[in-house]
Amino acid sequence: MQDLALANRVLHHEGVVDDFGHVALRDPADPQHFWLSRALPPNLVTVADLRRYGPDGVCEDAGVQSYSEAVLHARIFAARPDVQVCIHHHARPLLPFTLAGAPPLRPVFHTGAIAGWEIPLWDSAPFGAGGMLVDTVAKADSLAEALGPHRAALLRAHGAVVVGPTIAEAVMIAIYMAENAGVALAAGAPHHPVPSLAREEAEETSRRLLTPNTIARVWTGRVAKLAG
Ligand SMILES: [Zn+2]
Repeated sequence: MQDLALANRVLHHEGVVDDFGHVALRDPADPQHFWLSRALPPNLVTVADLRRYGPDGVCEDAGVQSYSEAVLHARIFAARPDVQVCIHHHARPLLPFTLAGAPPLRPVFHTGAIAGWEIPLWDSAPFGAGGMLVDTVAKADSLAEALGPHRAALLRAHGAVVVGPTIAEAVMIAIYMAENAGVALAAGAPHHPVPSLAREEAEETSRRLLTPNTIARVWTGRVAKLAG
């Protein structure tokens, strides 16, 4: 639980989440449920703010205000038994790649490869204006379907979801995916074609980077940055 609270603060420190955005962890003892902070800016989240949510995305503690997109995590956990951690954020470097008509975001540098070759784009428009939030079971199921087996998906003109088997791995993917978008932007994407890694190269690079030692190294380093 300490790591879940830390993940919120690390992602804020790294500019992945801002005033919004959140991290959910499947309950290790009861996989139909998950843990998520009550509605707070991510940089303020402590262990005391974490609450348990049901498979419908409803908080078991009716006395606190919940994030309106809590259901997003519920439906992704339901659709993906391999996923233990789900992050939703609005990192700015990714946003140009979420706009209608943008080309797919591909890995353009070494560590940027870990978000995967295929990052689907989900659009809330078929569900009506609705504030663009993923705040209903129907929208969350649709997003989970678009995510499919991938590590991340983009939400049109909104942000992204990133999933992983551990807190440290999901946080690492979220950070490097945003950095990959930043490098792609600096190179002229999405308006100009930017050379990406070859697909095979990206997949092999990702496989070599997502090892327990490397993931622990990144997590330890980024947590230490928080302490200053
Ligand atoms: Zn959002």
